Amino acid sequence: MITTSVDVLVIGGGATGAAALYDLARRGLRALLVDQLDFTTGTSGRYHGLLHSGGRYAGHDLETAQECIVENQILRRIAPFAVEDTGGLFVATPVDPADFPARWLDGCARAGIPAEPLTPTQARAEEPALTPHITAVYRVPDASVDSFDLIHGLVEAARSYGSDAWIYQRVVALLREGDAVIGATLEDTRTGERRTVHAACIINATGPWAGVVAGLAGLDVKILFSRGAMIAMNTRWVNTIVNRLRPADDGDILVPVGTVCVLGTTSVTTDRPDDYRIEPWEVTKILAEADVVVPGIRHGRALRAWAGVRPLYEPPEVTRGEVEGRAVKRTFSVIDHAERDGVRGLVTVTGGKLTTCRLMAEKAVDVACAQLGVRTPCSTADEVLPIPAAASRRYHRLDHRLHRLEHGELPGALICECELVTRPQLEAAIAAYGEQPVALDDLRRDLRLGMGPCQAGFCGVRAAGILQSARKLSAEQAVRALGAFVDERFRGVRPLLWGHQLRQLYLDELIYRRILGLDALLESTPATPAAVAAATEEVSRG
Ligand SMILES: Cc1cc2nc3c(=O)[nH]c(=O)nc-3n(C[C@H](O)[C@H](O)[C@H](O)COP(=O)(O)OP(=O)(O)OC[C@H]3O[C@@H](n4cnc5c(N)ncnc54)[C@H](O)[C@@H]3O)c2cc1C
Repeated sequence: MITTSVDVLVIGGGATGAAALYDLARRGLRALLVDQLDFTTGTSGRYHGLLHSGGRYAGHDLETAQECIVENQILRRIAPFAVEDTGGLFVATPVDPADFPARWLDGCARAGIPAEPLTPTQARAEEPALTPHITAVYRVPDASVDSFDLIHGLVEAARSYGSDAWIYQRVVALLREGDAVIGATLEDTRTGERRTVHAACIINATGPWAGVVAGLAGLDVKILFSRGAMIAMNTRWVNTIVNRLRPADDGDILVPVGTVCVLGTTSVTTDRPDDYRIEPWEVTKILAEADVVVPGIRHGRALRAWAGVRPLYEPPEVTRGEVEGRAVKRTFSVIDHAERDGVRGLVTVTGGKLTTCRLMAEKAVDVACAQLGVRTPCSTADEVLPIPAAASRRYHRLDHRLHRLEHGELPGALICECELVTRPQLEAAIAAYGEQPVALDDLRRDLRLGMGPCQAGFCGVRAAGILQSARKLSAEQAVRALGAFVDERFRGVRPLLWGHQLRQLYLDELIYRRILGLDALLESTPATPAAVAAATEEVSRG
């Protein structure tokens, strides 16, 4: 078995783990980050996309509100490539509690969140889609944040200091020597190959899986799981983040992200870190609540629904098992297992928000450094991160992308018409994986391939063909890659089958099931290269 040694191993390639890797690297430690899948496949890729001003928590959770406003300002400064300064509005309507705005304003003042009152007329001049029935409206410094770009920025910066990150490496065992954790066994989730990493300290930044990973060292960390669903509408109904000005509830937020508008969310107690179910009532509720502030939106075209699981942790002495869901504070916890359990070499960090990932990392790394006797202070708030390569390959804003396309700055055939992904971009993204395996879903995260209205109906097969020739895949491998991609895309459309999206899915089904015969190809092994080539050719011709 291959063995590697590092100063600190970080488990979890979400925002918290990536921020911890960067922090460790800046403090001069050689760190390694591992994730069981790709970066952002946990909660950090299954979230709303809101860089909180803290306003959402000002009415009931002052600690989180304060953390958010401070970290909001820092992330804007150090990762401008990942943040779109949309601004945010808190909007009260006649059906919301009339006494809430005063309480909320007081919370904002105490947390240091600037909340500027607007008249309903001013607000509607800026956002004409807003309801005419506004009883109070305030502007706050919310923004939207792309977690993929942020995490890539953090990882690339850490690599420039000599640290590294490996994806598709699951920690399947934590190695203990007496009262110390001294390393981990990793398993490649694609090949099953195992290797050992020795580390003087391990940071467990696995979000909702934090209890599972701590359990590998025989330690008990009880996480509460709160599942939330979100829906992407196919256009930006609003260009500013719109929050309901009422006590936090289901369907309170509309976030313009890239080319879409994300509506959400719900809070359902569950018992699994990867429970991504979406129940029909959640879709109905989210659309109905969004329709109160943006009338007509529930009749718009909903592209895709997905769910994420919030890891909620409060020390046992705080919860005594009595609170759950929205009642649990959204601040984070760092557990020093040396102090709590007498087991050195392991620090767990969980809870919190994506907005506060840098602060969470700072506090976890402080504890790791104390265990290691390292005195270098955190400096992650001081310097602007370099723009990651992945961010410069993508063009989130439709007008930017159209401009580049029309002015010949995006040469090559269009592979994904919805998201304007070209063949050279796809080939460059595949090449960036070097010798490592790459799935079409990895390329989706890199380029937004297949994320538009047709949900891979047209681009999926073209991309599979390009992947096949770039990687010299067998026909069977190419068909399996396409099957996995299309299945995953269709999964997110299924909760939204009405109107345009129902027609779209039916067309996609006809393409994949009838023209390509994908189901039959997946069943018949091996598929013939000629059949795949002919089918690919047929769809590419339109
Ligand atoms: C519905 C919803 C909406 C949200 N909206 C917002 C928002 O708008 N703004 C905001 O700031 N926050 C939001 N949040 C909260 C935010 O998304 C999370 O707090 C944040 O993403 C957590 O990041 P993390 O890195 O701690 O965990 P994760 O992103 O979950 O990362 C943990 C990683 O650990 C990996 N892992 C697990 N087990 C292992 C193992 N054994 N070996 C290797 N790797 C492993 C997983 O694959 C995963 O990638 C939302 C959360 C939810 C659920």
